[in-house]
Parts: sequence; structure tokens; C-alpha cells
Amino acid sequence: MQKVAVVALGCPKNTVEAEYLLGVFRGKGFAITNNIEEADIAVIHTCSFIKTAKEESEKTIRAVLSVKKKTGLRAYVSGCLPQLLQNKMNSVFPEIDGYVGTGTLKELPRLVFNKGFDKSLLPPGGLNESKYRVLSSSLPSTYLKIAEGCGHKCSFCIIPSLRGGYESRTIESLVDEAKSLADNGIKELILIAQDATSYGYDIYGAFALDKLLSKLANIKGLKWIRLLYAYPSSVTDSLLDVFKERKNICNYMDIPIQHISKNVLSAMRRPLNTASIIDKIKNKLPDIVLRTSIITGFPGETKRDINELISFLERGYFQYVGVFEYSNQKEADSSKLKKQIKNSVAVDRRTLVENAQYSVFKSQIDKIKGNDIEFIVENCSQKISDSKYNITGRCYFQAPEIDGNITLLSDKPLKSGEFYSGKIKGVKGYNIKVTIGEI
Ligand code: SF4
Repeated sequence: MQKVAVVALGCPKNTVEAEYLLGVFRGKGFAITNNIEEADIAVIHTCSFIKTAKEESEKTIRAVLSVKKKTGLRAYVSGCLPQLLQNKMNSVFPEIDGYVGTGTLKELPRLVFNKGFDKSLLPPGGLNESKYRVLSSSLPSTYLKIAEGCGHKCSFCIIPSLRGGYESRTIESLVDEAKSLADNGIKELILIAQDATSYGYDIYGAFALDKLLSKLANIKGLKWIRLLYAYPSSVTDSLLDVFKERKNICNYMDIPIQHISKNVLSAMRRPLNTASIIDKIKNKLPDIVLRTSIITGFPGETKRDINELISFLERGYFQYVGVFEYSNQKEADSSKLKKQIKNSVAVDRRTLVENAQYSVFKSQIDKIKGNDIEFIVENCSQKISDSKYNITGRCYFQAPEIDGNITLLSDKPLKSGEFYSGKIKGVKGYNIKVTIGEI
């Protein structure tokens, strides 16, 4: 039986696609391995939405090709890099055995069997569902990709050209998948898409995330349902009502705003009323914990714009902010804008925003010091020195990999994947230290 390994790079949407892909391969009789050295077939599922992501994909392909020289494995590339480079892939990586873009991942096994390139395999899109899915984590937490592609035209972003137009999955297919995940022990379900809050408008003629969330919240065993990638102007009142009514929907939302100054938002082609939308959310759900993403150094951004942004953040709307300096993509419309800003200035501004936001984070956690908080354990390791246990986990307002962790030292081991309650003691960076009572 041939062994296949899939390396997933980039965002959680790629992780889900790689899990579907492994399911498709398993369905075709391949064995699965995480060890490239023992694989007969290696697939690198790539990302290329910004320069650094593209470089990481190219570096990983080269690393796999050096294994190929030793073991003779066959190497295939899929996803956003072939979608971006199209048939330039042949000249950039002549040694690979084949590639597919974002819209034809399901075709990969056929390519593997038939050996060789197939230029037609490059329509944009995504592998949105598969009967089989091989989860890449043993923890009771996973992602549910509810749609692919994007209907917006943010001037700095090339994702619509890589992933195509907005394509929602049906509520039925999502509920089926979520039920099977819950039946297999999943307790936390994280909803993802390029723009999750526009879910449904393409197939139901109206935003339907509220309806989807209500159905998912009925599924037995799902303790936490988390929403990432909300888009400001498609956050509806009925969606916020569902957040209010359903206790297993985490009182947390990731809503990238990218900036707040109208001067910059209009150049980005993003909603100018972003501030009032955030206000509306916090008025309706005062205790909700918000995360956002910000770009600094966008062409035309002035010192005044950055100061306006910092004073907006200092009002404490967000507990977490991911800050990125502008990355000039030649394929993006923003690369043609005047008043491009030096990268060093963009980086300085990123640091300014990060420092301002850290003070906000710290003061928000100071307000809940001494409170009890429930958390899921994700790692428990014994310390050599005093045989205590180093525990890390997450609470309802911490998404995986981006919001820091709950940390504690325990006399007794705690079970990974189980929920416990601890008392908040303080912070270390973005980690929140807790103590735990008798267990
Ligand atoms: S909403 Fe997100 S994915 Fe869509 S164009 Fe804007 S930044 Fe890109």
C-alpha cells in the first residue's frame, strides 16, 4: 500500500483542506504517514497570499524535493502557490511530479495515478467538503470551513483571485459534518471562511450564519462553538441575538477591521462605518471578547491616521489585535497606489500599535484577576526539577495559536482534552496564569 504525506501550510482553511485531501487519498486505498522520509507520495498544500507565505511554501517544496532525491518519492504541489504561479510552476520547480491549484484538489489522486502535469487543473476555488476527513490533531478541537472564496475586493488582497467568488456550503452538509465530528469526540468547533459572516447569501439569498449557528448549537457534545473571520458589514442583529441566546457559542468573535481611519479604509476598499459597527456589537454584547487584525504602513497612511487608530484601540474594544506591516504584493491593486510607505516606517508603526494594544490587554485581564475561569487542557508535561506538571490550555476567549494560552503549574497531571476551572492570577506576555484548587 502506497504511503502519502500531506504538508499543510498557511491558514486553518488549508489545514481543513489537507484533512479532506487525506480522506480522499485514504478512500482511494493509500496509507497515511506524517513522516516525509517514509512517504511514497508527498503533497505540499501551499499558501501564497503574501510574500512571506509564498517564500515559506517555496522553501518547503525545496525541502521535500531534497528528500525526493534520497528516497525517490513523488512530490506534488497544491493550493494557492500553483494558483498564483499557474504554469510558471513547470519552470520554477521542474522536478515536481505534478500540481493542482485551489479548485481541483479532488483531482490529485487521479494525477498521482496518471503521472504528469495537467494545465487545466487551475480554476480557483476550494475543496469544500468530503465524506472522509482525517483530523490532524488529537485534541477535541477542530475547524469547520463553512464557505470558500470571497466576494469583496480589498485593494491589498489577492485571495479572491486565488480562491474565486464566495461559495457557501449548505446548512445540511455542515450540520452533518459537525454531528460526525461531535460523535467522534470534538468539543470545540471553530467556524472559518475568508468572510464567515457573509455565509449563505450566495445560496439562500440572505446572510444565514445566525441560522447555521442555531442548528450547530443544538448538536450534543459541542461545548464551544467559535467564530473567526467575521466581516464588519455583514454582522447582523440576528447574528448577535444568537450569540446572546446560545450558551455554547463562545462570547468571542474574530473580526478583522484592518484599520479605522476613513482615509486608509477607503484606499483599502473596506467599510468606512467600521467604528460604528464595532460600537454596535459592544453595545449589544458588552462582555463579548473581540479579536481583530490591523495593517500598518498602508500606502497613503499618515501619522494622524496611526494616532487615530491607536486612540480607537485604547478605548478597549479589542482584547486581541494581530498587527501586520503592509506587504506590497505586485498582483494586488494597492501596489499601484501612490505614497507607498517605507517598510521600516510600517514596522515602527506596527510596534507602536502592538505596545498600545498590550496595555489594553493587560488592563482587561487585571479587571478579571481572582475570577474563576474554565479552560480546556491542551498539554501537560512533567517538570524534571520538582515533578510538578506544566499545563497549558485555552479558555473561551482564546482561539488556538493566536490568542495566547492559559498556563499553570499543578501537583497532579491534568487530562488533555478535558475541561477544568482555575483562578486567574495574572499574565505573562499574552499567556494568562491561573491556579487550580483541589482536583
Ligand atoms: S474580505 Fe478578506 S479575503 Fe476577502 S478580499 Fe478582503 S481581505 Fe481578502
